[in-house]
Amino acid sequence: MSVEINLDENIAVITIDNPPVNALSAHIRAGLVAAIEAVNGDEKIQGAILIGEGRIFIGGADIKEFGKPPQEPFLPDVIDVIENCRVPTVAAINGAALGGGLEVALGCRFRVGSPAAKCGLPEVNLGLIPGAGGTQRMPRLIGAVKAGEMITSGKPLGADKALDVGILDAVFANGLLENAKVFIRDKIAKGENGQALSARQVPDWNADRFAALEANTKARARGQLSPVKALEAVRAAYEYPFAEGMKREREIFMECMASPQRAGLIHAFFAQRQVAKIPGLDMSITRAIKTVGILGAGTMGAGIAMAFLAGGYRVSLFDINEDALSAGMKRIAKTLESSVSKGRISAALKDEQLARLSAISSMKDLSETDLIIEAATENMEIKKSIFRELDQICKPGAILATNTSYLDVNIIARETKRPGDVIGMHFFSPAHIMKLLEVVRTDTVNEEVLATVMGLGKSIGKITVLSGVCDGFIGNRILKAYRKQAEYMVEDGAWPEQVDKVMRGFGFAMGIFAVSDLAGLDIGYFNRRREDASRPKRERYVDIADKLYDLGRLGQKTGSGWYRYKDGSRTPIVDPIVTELIETASSRKGIERRAFSDDEIRERILYAMINEGAKILDEGIAARALDIDMVYIHGYGFPAYRGGPMFFADQIGAKIVYERITAFAKTDPYFWQISPLLKRLAETGGTFKGL
Ligand code: NAD
Repeated sequence: MSVEINLDENIAVITIDNPPVNALSAHIRAGLVAAIEAVNGDEKIQGAILIGEGRIFIGGADIKEFGKPPQEPFLPDVIDVIENCRVPTVAAINGAALGGGLEVALGCRFRVGSPAAKCGLPEVNLGLIPGAGGTQRMPRLIGAVKAGEMITSGKPLGADKALDVGILDAVFANGLLENAKVFIRDKIAKGENGQALSARQVPDWNADRFAALEANTKARARGQLSPVKALEAVRAAYEYPFAEGMKREREIFMECMASPQRAGLIHAFFAQRQVAKIPGLDMSITRAIKTVGILGAGTMGAGIAMAFLAGGYRVSLFDINEDALSAGMKRIAKTLESSVSKGRISAALKDEQLARLSAISSMKDLSETDLIIEAATENMEIKKSIFRELDQICKPGAILATNTSYLDVNIIARETKRPGDVIGMHFFSPAHIMKLLEVVRTDTVNEEVLATVMGLGKSIGKITVLSGVCDGFIGNRILKAYRKQAEYMVEDGAWPEQVDKVMRGFGFAMGIFAVSDLAGLDIGYFNRRREDASRPKRERYVDIADKLYDLGRLGQKTGSGWYRYKDGSRTPIVDPIVTELIETASSRKGIERRAFSDDEIRERILYAMINEGAKILDEGIAARALDIDMVYIHGYGFPAYRGGPMFFADQIGAKIVYERITAFAKTDPYFWQISPLLKRLAETGGTFKGL
């Protein structure tokens, strides 16, 4: 765990060795300073190479230091020392150079890489901006627009791209260190010391293009501050001399550091690392999964198949309807082809994935399959009969999963003679893209099956959250509370477009009415029919969505739903027919429509979600508040910079939420039944995170 210097004649090779990611911990920063001082003090040395041990150059800051008082030497000072080294320096980027790691490389006079090099400044993802000169040196190296794009996206560039934009001076297919030596010796021989980036001007400044980037970034950030702030710092690189620009960077960095958005993003970052670790669950005993069978080749089945193909599994697809099966197979091939044309995967990878996929004409072909995921029509009788049949067909030890959105997985498990092997795997649409997977733990499931499926989720790149059994599990159950509250407000006087706008303003990707149009109004309609028999008499029921369904307005797919859509467009347009329908619905119930302020809309919706989330926690459906936060950020478009609904509740304070809900409950006590847990936290000053 150190910084080492080795001499090769007149060249010093400085190796950063701090497993697992060569993070810039305090002792590494100090080690870098000492190494450069040693180089400066040794007349023989004419050039220096910085390289990382193992597969990473420098992964960035040390996350163990997050939230602690900063320790000297500070990174900007370390980079100054590197930049002022007596001899020319080259960063030999052997893998990821991220955040502070890339900023260190920018302190060197030259940068070369292996094909594995990855150059990125991902600080905006944590609500920050690069804080060790990245916003000042990167624009001086590659221009303000390219630097701005890179910093605001937070996405790393691969070796070729980094070479193309000018971050790297060369990429060597093999033997990075040896080639870096040849490279620096050549520079020494030619007397080319390279110019310090701090001494350069920002090249190719184009005010219009930069202004366009600023406008675009603001629109895409949906209220997130850090990307917008990062561009302020990049602009300063052009407008001020280096030292002034560095001051500006520091001020903006500190401003971001103090913002609640950073707290939300840091929470989301750590929650993501924690979410698949289930307290008390032994993850070391699992079953081997190599083959996956999928039942139902519709929207979900095809998406789930693609998720497993991308994860390297062998996949068999079955549908009771032959046409649906061939349509599903075609959709998969088409989607993979379009990924090739968009440059996301290579043609060879597409072929390799398709070679692992087979359509099967009988469920009997699943007798040797390790995992079967049922993604057939949402109907209990259909699912029961599928599971009875699987019980007859599948080998002992096979895991049987259902992708049901709402149905009771305990009942489905009991249809088999092996309830310990039955589990819920609730994917989100489109399943090959959406990051969230809710794993539904039945009362009877084996720990080994649970551990296998939690690990499996990770192996296909999903954020895997454990949920207990209840109607809609964590995500859809909270969504139901959101939807009901939104519809109550619309019947009482708000408008769908107003509600959607307020929630977009909060940072959601879409509002609930636009989401309903996207998913299809038939889904909600059939759900409500399923609930008709059991819906409590005291519950308020809004029938506007039913009326839309009766008119054949099923959302985007029919060109109209809560909104209207022009041919092929996904942009919602307010439709006077809907406005009239809503007014009629209110007057039919004798409701005198009233105006809702944006604040009231936002509070009612968020507090309804928080209250439901608190009940879910209290009932043990979610084990921790962070599980709910992860579901909402990764499955429902909740803004990550707010940390998720439960983290957001903690930021407001349980007492305030409780008091507002108490006030709302005066007019609708049935809906606003307050969670006992929320009440407890309000009374004791506790937080969801602290539970
Ligand atoms: P879909 O209608 O697109 O596809 C269902 C497919 O199942 C159809 O092709 C149908 O022919 C087939 N099928 C019916 N009975 C079958 C049987 N006995 N054996 C094999 N195949 C059979 O539906 P979908 O949207 O893909 O939903 C499938 C499941 O996924 C449902 O349980 C649904 O609740 C759940 N789900 C859907 C979404 C979503 O957004 N669409 C999200 C999460 C979960």
